[in-house]
Amino acid sequence: MSKKLTFFMVDDDPFSIRLHTGLLEGAGHTVLSTTESTQALERLLAQPVDCALLDIMMPGLDGMALLQKLRSEPRLRDLKVVIISGKQFEYDRERAYAFGVDGYLVKPVDPATFVNQLQAIIHDPIELRYWGVRGTLPVSGPKVLHYGGNTSCVTLEFPRGELLIFDAGSGIKRLSDHLLAQKRSRMEAKIYISHPHWDHINALPFFRPLYQQGNDFEICGASHGDIDMRELIVAQMDGVYFPTKISQFAARVYFRNLREESFPVTDRITMHTMLLNHPGNCLGYRVEYRGRAICYITDNEIYPKESSYHNAHYIGKLAEFVHGADVLIIDATYTDKEYPGRIHWGHSAITPVVELAHQARIKALHLFHHDPDQNDEAIAAKERSAMALLHALNPDILCLAPAEGQIFQV
Ligand SMILES: [Zn+2]
Ligand SMILES: [Zn+2]
Repeated sequence: MSKKLTFFMVDDDPFSIRLHTGLLEGAGHTVLSTTESTQALERLLAQPVDCALLDIMMPGLDGMALLQKLRSEPRLRDLKVVIISGKQFEYDRERAYAFGVDGYLVKPVDPATFVNQLQAIIHDPIELRYWGVRGTLPVSGPKVLHYGGNTSCVTLEFPRGELLIFDAGSGIKRLSDHLLAQKRSRMEAKIYISHPHWDHINALPFFRPLYQQGNDFEICGASHGDIDMRELIVAQMDGVYFPTKISQFAARVYFRNLREESFPVTDRITMHTMLLNHPGNCLGYRVEYRGRAICYITDNEIYPKESSYHNAHYIGKLAEFVHGADVLIIDATYTDKEYPGRIHWGHSAITPVVELAHQARIKALHLFHHDPDQNDEAIAAKERSAMALLHALNPDILCLAPAEGQIFQV
Protein backbone atom coordinates (compact mmCIF):
# COMPACT_ATOMS: atom_id res chain seq x y z
CA MET A 1 0.00 0.00 0.00
CA SER A 2 1.70 3.22 -1.05
CA LYS A 3 -0.12 5.70 1.21
CA LYS A 4 0.10 4.98 4.92
CA LEU A 5 -3.34 4.84 6.50
CA THR A 6 -4.88 4.99 9.95
CA PHE A 7 -7.36 2.30 10.96
CA PHE A 8 -9.73 2.11 13.90
CA MET A 9 -10.66 -1.42 14.93
CA VAL A 10 -13.74 -2.30 16.97
CA ASP A 11 -13.78 -5.90 18.19
CA ASP A 12 -14.65 -7.48 21.53
CA ASP A 13 -12.06 -10.22 20.90
CA PRO A 14 -8.58 -9.02 21.98
CA PHE A 15 -6.94 -11.85 20.00
CA SER A 16 -8.47 -10.60 16.71
CA ILE A 17 -7.34 -7.06 17.53
CA ARG A 18 -3.76 -8.24 18.17
CA LEU A 19 -3.64 -10.34 14.98
CA HIS A 20 -5.10 -7.70 12.63
CA THR A 21 -3.09 -4.89 14.24
CA GLY A 22 0.12 -6.88 13.74
CA LEU A 23 -0.61 -7.40 10.04
CA LEU A 24 -1.49 -3.76 9.40
CA GLU A 25 1.39 -2.33 11.44
CA GLY A 26 3.72 -4.74 9.66
CA ALA A 27 2.73 -2.99 6.42
CA GLY A 28 3.47 0.42 7.96
CA HIS A 29 -0.05 1.53 8.90
CA THR A 30 -1.31 2.97 12.18
CA VAL A 31 -3.96 1.10 14.12
CA LEU A 32 -6.16 2.37 16.96
CA SER A 33 -8.64 0.02 18.61
CA THR A 34 -11.28 -0.59 21.23
CA THR A 35 -13.10 -3.65 22.59
CA GLU A 36 -16.02 -1.40 23.66
CA SER A 37 -18.30 -0.82 20.67
CA THR A 38 -20.43 1.69 22.58
CA GLN A 39 -17.45 4.09 22.68
CA ALA A 40 -16.54 3.76 19.00
CA LEU A 41 -18.61 6.62 17.54
CA GLU A 42 -17.35 9.13 20.09
CA ARG A 43 -13.72 8.16 19.50
CA LEU A 44 -14.08 8.28 15.71
CA LEU A 45 -15.52 11.80 15.94
CA ALA A 46 -12.71 12.90 18.25
CA GLN A 47 -9.95 11.43 16.10
CA PRO A 48 -10.65 11.01 12.37
CA VAL A 49 -9.18 7.91 10.67
CA ASP A 50 -9.20 6.54 7.10
CA CYS A 51 -11.02 3.29 7.78
CA ALA A 52 -13.04 1.66 10.57
CA LEU A 53 -12.93 -2.14 10.92
CA LEU A 54 -15.97 -3.56 12.72
CA ASP A 55 -16.79 -6.97 14.12
CA ILE A 56 -20.52 -7.88 14.11
CA MET A 57 -21.24 -9.92 17.22
CA MET A 58 -20.32 -7.58 20.07
CA PRO A 59 -22.03 -6.86 23.41
CA GLY A 60 -23.61 -3.45 23.95
CA LEU A 61 -23.81 -2.34 20.33
CA ASP A 62 -23.50 -4.90 17.55
CA GLY A 63 -21.51 -4.14 14.40
CA MET A 64 -24.56 -3.66 12.16
CA ALA A 65 -26.12 -1.13 14.55
CA LEU A 66 -22.76 0.66 14.83
CA LEU A 67 -22.46 0.69 11.03
CA GLN A 68 -25.87 2.38 10.76
CA LYS A 69 -24.83 5.00 13.34
CA LEU A 70 -21.60 5.73 11.45
CA ARG A 71 -23.44 6.06 8.14
CA SER A 72 -25.98 8.51 9.56
CA GLU A 73 -23.22 10.81 10.86
CA PRO A 74 -22.45 13.55 8.27
CA ARG A 75 -19.06 14.30 9.84
CA LEU A 76 -17.93 10.74 8.95
CA ARG A 77 -19.02 10.98 5.31
CA ASP A 78 -15.56 10.09 3.95
CA LEU A 79 -14.88 7.26 6.38
CA LYS A 80 -14.42 3.81 4.81
CA VAL A 81 -16.01 1.04 6.86
CA VAL A 82 -15.18 -2.66 6.58
CA ILE A 83 -16.83 -5.50 8.48
CA ILE A 84 -14.51 -8.29 9.63
CA SER A 85 -16.70 -11.05 11.04
CA GLY A 86 -16.82 -14.79 11.55
CA LYS A 87 -20.34 -14.70 10.06
CA GLN A 88 -20.15 -16.21 6.59
CA PHE A 89 -23.85 -15.90 5.77
CA GLU A 90 -24.92 -14.24 2.54
CA TYR A 91 -27.75 -12.59 4.47
CA ASP A 92 -25.36 -10.70 6.77
CA ARG A 93 -23.12 -9.67 3.89
CA GLU A 94 -26.07 -8.32 1.90
CA ARG A 95 -27.48 -6.51 4.92
CA ALA A 96 -24.09 -4.88 5.59
CA TYR A 97 -23.87 -3.70 1.97
CA ALA A 98 -27.43 -2.38 2.18
CA PHE A 99 -26.35 -0.35 5.26
CA GLY A 100 -23.47 1.16 3.26
CA VAL A 101 -20.41 -0.87 4.26
CA ASP A 102 -17.47 -0.65 1.82
CA GLY A 103 -16.25 -4.21 2.29
CA TYR A 104 -16.94 -7.45 4.16
CA LEU A 105 -14.14 -9.84 5.14
CA VAL A 106 -14.63 -13.19 6.83
CA LYS A 107 -12.62 -14.40 9.85
CA PRO A 108 -10.17 -15.99 10.11
CA VAL A 109 -8.54 -13.61 7.66
CA ASP A 110 -5.78 -14.87 5.37
CA PRO A 111 -2.59 -13.18 6.63
CA ALA A 112 -1.08 -13.36 3.13
CA THR A 113 -3.86 -11.34 1.49
CA PHE A 114 -5.49 -9.37 4.35
CA VAL A 115 -3.68 -6.05 3.83
CA ASN A 116 -4.10 -6.21 0.03
CA GLN A 117 -7.81 -6.97 0.37
CA LEU A 118 -8.26 -3.91 2.57
CA GLN A 119 -6.27 -1.84 0.08
CA ALA A 120 -8.58 -2.94 -2.75
CA ILE A 121 -11.65 -2.04 -0.68
CA ILE A 122 -10.30 1.38 0.32
CA HIS A 123 -8.98 2.40 -3.12
CA ASP A 124 -11.96 0.70 -4.85
CA PRO A 125 -10.31 0.19 -8.27
CA ILE A 126 -11.86 -1.46 -11.29
CA GLU A 127 -9.33 -3.90 -12.72
CA LEU A 128 -9.33 -3.84 -16.52
CA ARG A 129 -7.45 -6.72 -18.09
CA TYR A 130 -6.73 -7.67 -21.70
CA TRP A 131 -6.72 -11.39 -22.62
CA GLY A 132 -6.80 -10.89 -26.41
CA VAL A 133 -6.52 -7.64 -28.39
CA ARG A 134 -6.70 -8.86 -32.00
CA GLY A 135 -9.55 -8.90 -34.46
CA THR A 136 -10.65 -11.39 -37.07
CA LEU A 137 -8.14 -14.23 -36.63
CA PRO A 138 -5.64 -15.32 -33.96
CA VAL A 139 -2.01 -15.08 -35.08
CA SER A 140 1.23 -16.49 -33.72
CA GLY A 141 4.98 -16.25 -34.21
CA PRO A 142 7.91 -14.12 -33.11
CA LYS A 143 6.56 -10.95 -34.75
CA VAL A 144 3.44 -10.74 -32.58
CA LEU A 145 4.91 -11.47 -29.16
CA HIS A 146 4.56 -7.96 -27.76
CA TYR A 147 0.86 -7.22 -28.39
CA GLY A 148 -0.11 -10.91 -28.43
CA GLY A 149 -1.95 -12.95 -31.02
CA ASN A 150 -5.29 -13.80 -29.38
CA THR A 151 -8.64 -12.42 -30.49
CA SER A 152 -10.97 -10.26 -28.42
CA CYS A 153 -11.44 -10.89 -24.73
CA VAL A 154 -11.40 -8.23 -21.99
CA THR A 155 -12.44 -8.40 -18.33
CA LEU A 156 -13.50 -5.92 -15.69
CA GLU A 157 -13.20 -7.08 -12.09
CA PHE A 158 -14.67 -5.04 -9.26
CA PRO A 159 -13.59 -4.86 -5.60
CA ARG A 160 -16.47 -7.04 -4.41
CA GLY A 161 -15.40 -9.70 -6.89
CA GLU A 162 -17.95 -9.10 -9.66
CA LEU A 163 -16.47 -10.26 -12.97
CA LEU A 164 -17.65 -8.96 -16.37
CA ILE A 165 -16.21 -10.66 -19.46
CA PHE A 166 -16.39 -8.95 -22.85
CA ASP A 167 -16.29 -11.31 -25.82
CA ALA A 168 -15.08 -14.88 -26.15
CA GLY A 169 -12.37 -14.74 -28.79
CA SER A 170 -9.33 -16.98 -28.34
CA GLY A 171 -8.14 -14.75 -25.45
CA ILE A 172 -10.80 -16.35 -23.24
CA LYS A 173 -8.64 -19.50 -23.08
CA ARG A 174 -5.99 -17.48 -21.19
CA LEU A 175 -8.70 -16.16 -18.87
CA SER A 176 -9.93 -19.73 -18.35
CA ASP A 177 -6.41 -20.89 -17.37
CA HIS A 178 -6.07 -17.91 -15.01
CA LEU A 179 -9.39 -18.62 -13.26
CA LEU A 180 -8.70 -22.35 -12.93
CA ALA A 181 -5.27 -21.62 -11.40
CA GLN A 182 -7.02 -19.61 -8.67
CA LYS A 183 -8.87 -22.80 -7.65
CA ARG A 184 -12.01 -20.83 -6.80
CA SER A 185 -14.66 -23.11 -5.34
CA ARG A 186 -17.44 -21.15 -7.02
CA MET A 187 -17.42 -18.69 -9.87
CA GLU A 188 -19.97 -16.22 -11.11
CA ALA A 189 -19.62 -13.92 -14.12
CA LYS A 190 -21.52 -12.11 -16.84
CA ILE A 191 -20.31 -12.62 -20.39
CA TYR A 192 -21.18 -9.77 -22.77
CA ILE A 193 -20.83 -10.69 -26.42
CA SER A 194 -20.46 -7.78 -28.84
CA HIS A 195 -21.72 -9.87 -31.79
CA PRO A 196 -21.48 -13.45 -32.99
CA HIS A 197 -18.66 -13.19 -35.55
CA TRP A 198 -16.13 -16.01 -35.01
CA ASP A 199 -13.43 -13.87 -33.43
CA HIS A 200 -15.87 -12.94 -30.64
CA ILE A 201 -17.50 -16.27 -29.79
CA ASN A 202 -15.54 -19.23 -31.11
CA ALA A 203 -13.41 -19.87 -28.02
CA LEU A 204 -16.39 -19.89 -25.64
CA PRO A 205 -16.47 -23.75 -25.69
CA PHE A 206 -12.85 -23.66 -24.36
CA PHE A 207 -13.86 -21.64 -21.29
CA ARG A 208 -13.59 -24.48 -18.80
CA PRO A 209 -15.44 -22.87 -15.86
CA LEU A 210 -18.60 -23.50 -17.95
CA TYR A 211 -18.10 -27.24 -17.39
CA GLN A 212 -17.80 -26.95 -13.57
CA GLN A 213 -20.77 -27.58 -11.34
CA GLY A 214 -21.69 -24.78 -8.96
CA ASN A 215 -20.59 -21.94 -11.25
CA ASP A 216 -23.06 -19.37 -12.58
CA PHE A 217 -22.81 -17.52 -15.89
CA GLU A 218 -25.06 -15.19 -17.80
CA ILE A 219 -24.28 -14.86 -21.51
CA CYS A 220 -25.69 -11.63 -22.91
CA GLY A 221 -25.82 -10.07 -26.35
CA ALA A 222 -28.02 -8.94 -29.19
CA SER A 223 -30.24 -11.44 -30.97
CA HIS A 224 -30.25 -11.55 -34.78
CA GLY A 225 -33.83 -11.44 -36.00
CA ASP A 226 -35.34 -14.72 -34.82
CA ILE A 227 -31.95 -16.18 -33.77
CA ASP A 228 -31.54 -15.43 -30.08
CA MET A 229 -28.36 -15.49 -27.95
CA ARG A 230 -28.89 -19.09 -26.87
CA GLU A 231 -29.23 -20.31 -30.45
CA LEU A 232 -26.22 -18.30 -31.56
CA ILE A 233 -24.06 -20.14 -29.02
CA VAL A 234 -25.75 -23.54 -29.50
CA ALA A 235 -25.29 -23.35 -33.29
CA GLN A 236 -21.49 -23.29 -33.12
CA MET A 237 -21.55 -26.37 -30.84
CA ASP A 238 -24.05 -28.51 -32.73
CA GLY A 239 -21.82 -31.57 -33.12
CA VAL A 240 -20.80 -30.93 -36.71
CA TYR A 241 -18.64 -27.89 -35.91
CA PHE A 242 -17.64 -28.80 -32.34
CA PRO A 243 -17.58 -32.12 -30.45
CA THR A 244 -19.16 -31.02 -27.14
CA LYS A 245 -22.67 -29.71 -26.86
CA ILE A 246 -24.07 -26.97 -24.70
CA SER A 247 -25.88 -29.65 -22.65
CA GLN A 248 -22.45 -30.68 -21.33
CA PHE A 249 -22.04 -27.34 -19.54
CA ALA A 250 -22.25 -28.28 -15.84
CA ALA A 251 -22.45 -24.67 -14.63
CA ARG A 252 -25.78 -22.87 -14.53
CA VAL A 253 -25.78 -20.88 -17.76
CA TYR A 254 -28.44 -18.29 -18.49
CA PHE A 255 -28.89 -16.34 -21.71
CA ARG A 256 -30.11 -12.79 -22.04
CA ASN A 257 -31.05 -11.01 -25.26
CA LEU A 258 -30.09 -7.37 -25.25
CA ARG A 259 -31.09 -4.41 -27.38
CA GLU A 260 -30.21 -0.76 -26.95
CA GLU A 261 -31.02 -0.32 -23.27
CA SER A 262 -29.75 0.50 -19.77
CA PHE A 263 -29.98 -1.82 -16.78
CA PRO A 264 -28.37 -2.42 -13.37
CA VAL A 265 -25.82 -5.26 -13.23
CA THR A 266 -25.61 -4.93 -9.42
CA ASP A 267 -26.64 -2.17 -7.03
CA ARG A 268 -23.39 -0.32 -7.90
CA ILE A 269 -22.73 -1.27 -11.55
CA THR A 270 -24.89 0.02 -14.42
CA MET A 271 -24.73 -1.15 -18.04
CA HIS A 272 -25.73 0.81 -21.14
CA THR A 273 -25.73 -0.64 -24.65
CA MET A 274 -25.73 0.84 -28.14
CA LEU A 275 -25.93 -0.74 -31.60
CA LEU A 276 -22.72 -0.20 -33.60
CA ASN A 277 -22.00 0.27 -37.30
CA HIS A 278 -21.02 -3.30 -38.26
CA PRO A 279 -22.64 -6.10 -40.30
CA GLY A 280 -25.47 -7.65 -38.21
CA ASN A 281 -26.39 -6.60 -34.70
CA CYS A 282 -23.27 -5.57 -32.82
CA LEU A 283 -23.48 -4.00 -29.36
CA GLY A 284 -21.20 -1.48 -27.72
CA TYR A 285 -21.15 -1.44 -23.91
CA ARG A 286 -20.75 1.34 -21.37
CA VAL A 287 -20.14 0.22 -17.77
CA GLU A 288 -20.62 2.77 -15.01
CA TYR A 289 -19.35 2.30 -11.48
CA ARG A 290 -19.28 4.94 -8.71
CA GLY A 291 -18.57 7.93 -10.95
CA ARG A 292 -16.34 6.06 -13.40
CA ALA A 293 -17.12 4.71 -16.88
CA ILE A 294 -15.44 2.22 -19.21
CA CYS A 295 -16.68 1.73 -22.78
CA TYR A 296 -16.12 -1.34 -24.95
CA ILE A 297 -16.76 -0.44 -28.60
CA THR A 298 -15.81 -3.15 -31.11
CA ASP A 299 -16.45 -3.93 -34.00
CA ASN A 300 -17.37 -0.57 -35.43
CA GLU A 301 -16.82 1.46 -38.60
CA ILE A 302 -16.69 5.23 -38.36
CA TYR A 303 -16.69 6.72 -41.84
CA PRO A 304 -14.11 9.51 -42.10
CA LYS A 305 -15.23 13.13 -42.50
CA GLU A 306 -14.28 13.26 -46.19
CA SER A 307 -16.20 10.01 -46.98
CA SER A 308 -19.53 10.25 -48.83
CA TYR A 309 -20.87 7.76 -46.21
CA HIS A 310 -19.96 10.07 -43.31
CA ASN A 311 -22.85 9.97 -40.84
CA ALA A 312 -22.82 12.90 -38.42
CA HIS A 313 -25.93 11.64 -36.62
CA TYR A 314 -24.33 8.28 -35.81
CA ILE A 315 -21.04 9.86 -34.70
CA GLY A 316 -22.93 12.32 -32.50
CA LYS A 317 -24.87 9.47 -30.91
CA LEU A 318 -21.69 7.42 -30.35
CA ALA A 319 -19.86 10.46 -28.91
CA GLU A 320 -22.70 10.97 -26.47
CA PHE A 321 -22.67 7.27 -25.55
CA VAL A 322 -18.93 7.23 -24.70
CA HIS A 323 -18.86 10.82 -23.36
CA GLY A 324 -16.41 11.43 -20.52
CA ALA A 325 -15.38 7.77 -20.25
CA ASP A 326 -12.32 7.05 -18.12
CA VAL A 327 -11.34 4.44 -20.70
CA LEU A 328 -12.63 4.02 -24.24
CA ILE A 329 -11.67 0.63 -25.69
CA ILE A 330 -12.35 0.95 -29.39
CA ASP A 331 -12.00 -0.77 -32.75
CA ALA A 332 -8.96 0.79 -34.46
CA THR A 333 -8.27 -2.04 -36.87
CA TYR A 334 -6.63 -0.12 -39.71
CA THR A 335 -4.10 2.61 -40.36
CA ASP A 336 -5.44 5.54 -42.38
CA LYS A 337 -3.46 4.19 -45.33
CA GLU A 338 -5.01 0.70 -45.16
CA TYR A 339 -8.59 1.85 -44.73
CA PRO A 340 -9.53 2.94 -48.31
CA GLY A 341 -9.21 -0.68 -49.49
CA ARG A 342 -11.49 -1.89 -46.68
CA ILE A 343 -14.49 0.45 -46.71
CA HIS A 344 -17.70 -1.27 -45.46
CA TRP A 345 -15.75 -4.07 -43.75
CA GLY A 346 -17.15 -2.78 -40.47
CA HIS A 347 -13.91 -1.50 -38.89
CA SER A 348 -12.30 1.88 -38.30
CA ALA A 349 -9.06 3.64 -39.12
CA ILE A 350 -7.10 5.77 -36.68
CA THR A 351 -8.13 9.33 -37.56
CA PRO A 352 -11.93 9.06 -37.04
CA VAL A 353 -11.32 7.14 -33.78
CA VAL A 354 -9.00 9.84 -32.49
CA GLU A 355 -11.49 12.56 -33.52
CA LEU A 356 -14.25 10.72 -31.64
CA ALA A 357 -12.07 10.53 -28.50
CA HIS A 358 -11.50 14.29 -28.71
CA GLN A 359 -15.16 15.11 -29.42
CA ALA A 360 -16.39 12.89 -26.55
CA ARG A 361 -13.83 14.28 -24.05
CA ILE A 362 -12.81 10.86 -22.83
CA LYS A 363 -9.80 10.41 -20.51
CA ALA A 364 -7.93 7.44 -22.05
CA LEU A 365 -8.14 5.89 -25.50
CA HIS A 366 -7.26 2.19 -25.86
CA LEU A 367 -6.77 1.06 -29.47
CA PHE A 368 -8.18 -2.44 -29.96
CA HIS A 369 -9.05 -5.19 -32.49
CA HIS A 370 -5.86 -5.12 -34.58
CA ASP A 371 -5.74 -6.57 -38.07
CA PRO A 372 -4.14 -10.05 -38.24
CA ASP A 373 -1.76 -8.83 -40.94
CA GLN A 374 -0.25 -6.24 -38.58
CA ASN A 375 2.83 -7.40 -36.65
CA ASP A 376 4.17 -5.75 -33.47
CA GLU A 377 6.07 -3.17 -35.46
CA ALA A 378 2.99 -2.19 -37.48
CA ILE A 379 0.79 -1.90 -34.37
CA ALA A 380 3.46 0.19 -32.61
CA ALA A 381 3.60 2.52 -35.62
CA LYS A 382 -0.22 2.77 -35.65
CA GLU A 383 -0.13 3.52 -31.90
CA ARG A 384 2.48 6.27 -32.41
CA SER A 385 0.48 7.91 -35.20
CA ALA A 386 -2.71 7.86 -33.07
CA MET A 387 -0.79 9.37 -30.13
CA ALA A 388 0.56 12.18 -32.32
CA LEU A 389 -2.85 12.95 -33.85
CA LEU A 390 -4.55 12.98 -30.46
CA HIS A 391 -1.79 15.00 -28.84
CA ALA A 392 -2.36 17.73 -31.43
CA LEU A 393 -6.09 17.82 -30.61
CA ASN A 394 -5.94 17.34 -26.83
CA PRO A 395 -2.70 16.49 -25.01
CA ASP A 396 -4.63 15.55 -21.85
CA ILE A 397 -6.12 12.39 -23.36
CA LEU A 398 -3.94 9.31 -22.89
CA CYS A 399 -3.62 7.07 -25.92
CA LEU A 400 -2.17 3.58 -26.18
CA ALA A 401 -2.59 0.13 -27.69
CA PRO A 402 -2.78 -2.27 -24.73
CA ALA A 403 -0.97 -5.58 -25.08
CA GLU A 404 -2.42 -8.98 -24.26
CA GLY A 405 -1.95 -9.60 -20.52
CA GLN A 406 -1.83 -5.90 -19.62
CA ILE A 407 -3.72 -4.77 -16.52
CA PHE A 408 -5.05 -1.30 -15.73
CA GLN A 409 -6.55 0.06 -12.51
CA VAL A 410 -9.34 2.49 -13.30
ZN1 LIG B 1 -14.13 -8.75 -34.77
ZN1 LIG C 1 -17.27 -8.48 -36.53
